[in-house]
Amino acid sequence: MAQRSDNQMTRSVQWASIGILAGALASPALAFTIGPWKLGLLFGIALGGIYAASLRPANRAYADNLMAGAALGIPLWSLISVVALPIFAGQAPAWSAEGIRAHFPALVGWVLYGAMFGVINQNMSDWATALWGPEAEPSVTTPSPITRIVILGGGFAGMKTAQRLEELLKSDISVHITLVSETNALLFTPMLAEVAGSSLEPSHISAPLRSGLHRTEFVRARTTGINLEKRSVLLEGMTAGEAPAESREIPYDQLVLALGAVSNYLGMPRVEELAFNFKTLVDAIRIRNHVIEMFERADREPDAARRAPLLTFVVAGGGFAGVELAGALNDFAHGILADYPHVNRDEVRVVLVHAHTRILPELSESLGHYARTKMEERGVEFRLNARLTDAQPGIIVLNDGEIRSETLVWTAGTTPSPIIKALNVEKDMHGAVKVDENLAVPSQPCVWALGDCAAVTDAKSGKPCPPTAQFALREAVTLASNVAAHLAGRPMKTFHFDSLGALCVIGHQTACAELTVPFARTRAVRFSGLLAWLMWRGIYLSKLPGLERKIRVLFDWTVELFFPRDIVQTIDLK
Ligand SMILES: Cc1cc2nc3c(=O)[nH]c(=O)nc-3n(C[C@H](O)[C@H](O)[C@H](O)COP(=O)(O)OP(=O)(O)OC[C@H]3O[C@@H](n4cnc5c(N)ncnc54)[C@H](O)[C@@H]3O)c2cc1C
Repeated sequence: MAQRSDNQMTRSVQWASIGILAGALASPALAFTIGPWKLGLLFGIALGGIYAASLRPANRAYADNLMAGAALGIPLWSLISVVALPIFAGQAPAWSAEGIRAHFPALVGWVLYGAMFGVINQNMSDWATALWGPEAEPSVTTPSPITRIVILGGGFAGMKTAQRLEELLKSDISVHITLVSETNALLFTPMLAEVAGSSLEPSHISAPLRSGLHRTEFVRARTTGINLEKRSVLLEGMTAGEAPAESREIPYDQLVLALGAVSNYLGMPRVEELAFNFKTLVDAIRIRNHVIEMFERADREPDAARRAPLLTFVVAGGGFAGVELAGALNDFAHGILADYPHVNRDEVRVVLVHAHTRILPELSESLGHYARTKMEERGVEFRLNARLTDAQPGIIVLNDGEIRSETLVWTAGTTPSPIIKALNVEKDMHGAVKVDENLAVPSQPCVWALGDCAAVTDAKSGKPCPPTAQFALREAVTLASNVAAHLAGRPMKTFHFDSLGALCVIGHQTACAELTVPFARTRAVRFSGLLAWLMWRGIYLSKLPGLERKIRVLFDWTVELFFPRDIVQTIDLK
């Protein structure tokens, strides 16, 4: 064990040295743009070392690293050039429009530095791996017969678990990994509101699961049941049209539950029947098509009283998803007005209904207030402290009145997948599977759970982990390592992760961001407006899986700057 940690330490130092060298080689771009050249060199070297020491070199294409590095240059520019350096110089942060313009050369420098670092670091890491050989991963003593690991759910949690298991068990042919999901692509939910608002093409924010997996068997099917006694999973094939669904049962030795969550309508069947969900790609496509449909109908409707519900769009829920969607729909609805000559600007209403006094409870009160004020200035209406109690066609019923509207989108509550509901394991008050600090289900040996379907408690802080992609991805890394450790009879890790912060776009090149200060996790830096929006785009573009998707999204964003929103109605898959 001591030998292994010594090896790991040596490798970390080796990677950090490569990062420092790569940082130094990439830093001329910074040295010429950031101010004093020594400062640029210092930042280039330090960031390179920190990056390489904390992250293992990814097994990715050079072009992907180039794009990811360039995209990460934007938030680094915001944090360092716009905020930190002026503060250290005893000035106010330069987040006004003029300040941002004045720091534009540094932005170019940061983007170039990030891109060059991404390529050089990857190049040098590849040489080093060839020289030093692959990193010593603990090999699993070959059990016989084959160990079947089945992962249910191809979202952030399931996909990352499969990828990490592939890395950890790459030389172990006695393990067979299967990933089951009802969609064949990983949906990048942070950009879902942009699809509903017609800024992004739907397929550009989804990455095919098959291309991200190498030795995992991918099965596109719906899980319909889990038999814990028999250790098997019941699957139903997905068929088009009337063809009967094909059922099959697959056995498992280790089962990973990563089934995510579905909308929870809090026992209101008519709301469930009439509202749009906002969780999947199809949901976003439907919302976009429906909004266009409402404009088409309103444009030919001469009666103003009948036009009103067509042009009123109600979003229930003032959390991240609801606020981002309301902002995107408001931009979309106002952006397509020119195509509908019989619709007046002041007839268009986007109403956000929220059961509490302030929106965005995940952010600080000041940022929540900022978001609301900005959105109100742009015409979004807020019905706070209001609960949705019922819905009828054309009418949305609140506890304090009614809204006449043909459009209701529900983002006000979620609950773990119905498959979890039927499972005989301990759950929390929201119905999520309770797991221990290793992410194992306590009463069921060989069953693990993570992501939105699990109730995970941080082993260090004792606090419940929020249902976000940020946490799901980190849980996946710990869970995969624990499955590998369990198979090898090694000790397992406990799960701990400090949130990196939160970002929320509120429409029209404006966002709110609250980022945790590294090494002082209890403190956060807050950003808002254009700068936060640039950071949002840079951070999420760098995280979007795959180079091709990054380029497509960048292209969509560029087109959006010069051309109006697309109002072509695509096929509704209902
Ligand atoms: C609009 C929106 C915006 C968001 N923005 C952010 C953000 O900016 N940052 C952030 O950190 N988090 C964000 N989140 C939250 C984040 O998306 C979730 O926390 C994350 O997706 C959870 O990952 P998961 O793998 O547990 O679940 P999911 O990503 O939901 O994946 C579940 C998977 O299971 C599959 N599945 C479900 N049921 C079955 C079945 N019966 N059979 C087979 N397969 C099944 C689904 O198809 C899916 O592939 C957002 C969520 C939404 C809805």
